[in-house]
Amino acid sequence: TIILGIESSCDDTSASVLINGKIISNIVANQAVHESFGGVVPELASRAHQQNIVPVVAAALKEANVSKEELSAIAFTRGPGLLGSLIVGTSFSKSLALALDIPLIEVNHMQGHILAHFIQNDSNRYPQFPFICLTVSGGHTQIVLVKDYFEMEILGETIDDAAGEAFDKAAKIMGLPYPGGPLIDQFAKNGNPKAYPFPIANLEGYNFSFSGLKTSLLYFLKKELVKDPEFITKNKADICASYQHTIIKTLFKNLLKATRANNITNIAIAGGVSANSLLRSELERIGKQEHWETFIPNFEYCTDNAGMIAIAGYYKYLKKEFVGQDITPNARLKIN
Ligand code: ATP
Ligand code: FE
Repeated sequence: TIILGIESSCDDTSASVLINGKIISNIVANQAVHESFGGVVPELASRAHQQNIVPVVAAALKEANVSKEELSAIAFTRGPGLLGSLIVGTSFSKSLALALDIPLIEVNHMQGHILAHFIQNDSNRYPQFPFICLTVSGGHTQIVLVKDYFEMEILGETIDDAAGEAFDKAAKIMGLPYPGGPLIDQFAKNGNPKAYPFPIANLEGYNFSFSGLKTSLLYFLKKELVKDPEFITKNKADICASYQHTIIKTLFKNLLKATRANNITNIAIAGGVSANSLLRSELERIGKQEHWETFIPNFEYCTDNAGMIAIAGYYKYLKKEFVGQDITPNARLKIN
């Protein structure tokens, strides 16, 4: 079975060829046009997808040494995401499936992030159902109870900003380019996580709130900059380390509550923020302490990529879950 996966939900155009659960190629074209804006500009994103999609798909097929006539099916991201961006991937996938007369498979982007754990890997370790996945990305922060490949229940989620957004907005406040998450991670390595105390929001259940954290950073820096205009430059590492530490601590607080209450010991992380080095090392450390089986995705499958869409498509292909030409993208597609 050869699946072509196509991802275009936000600002990365990606195509991947998957043969029997194994990734053969996974091409990602990043859009540099957004860097100076401190966030993704939707109109620019959809235009860049239009320019990128044909060469990216061609490159994925070429690298995999697969011709389009050999494809078994096409899997694409139907949502959630930016509507203009989703339309490009959806329309392209529908046309190609029609032209080749092969099945079309819709994939939920958030399910894709989680199912990336089932991409064939060298260690041959995969989560066992039911497991809990902490999905932390640019638009979402969710604690998900995963009962089966496509049976997922959200136990808790953010009521305002996502964890990735909290990283990106802090970076913007500090004058760093978008996306700021990887940069904060980098600077934090040389800083003291206890240098500055930032607040942790206390919510009922397993929900998160990160907008207050970003605001407290903004006011803190405003106050310090009055006293010393060089404050950010001089203390970048400590600010980044303290801010990052607060986000990760907040995430684990609810993750621990949810895993204990549900008696789950297979624990995974997914989404762009799962590339964060502190989140990864803390999952290992706390996992040992809690006797968890932990699952951390390879870096290339953390942020948006079509490999995760292809693997989700593969499991739907086995169940013959196909869609017709009347399918439309859904910017607010739900995980269940
Ligand atoms: P969603 O999946 O919710 O639709 P998205 O697809 O835009 O959102 P992803 O591509 O999964 O998000 O993740 C991008 C986010 O991950 C950005 O906010 C980015 O800053 C963050 N990120 C990437 N690497 C790191 C890192 N090392 N540390 C912290 N954050 C990171
Ligand atoms: Fe994503």
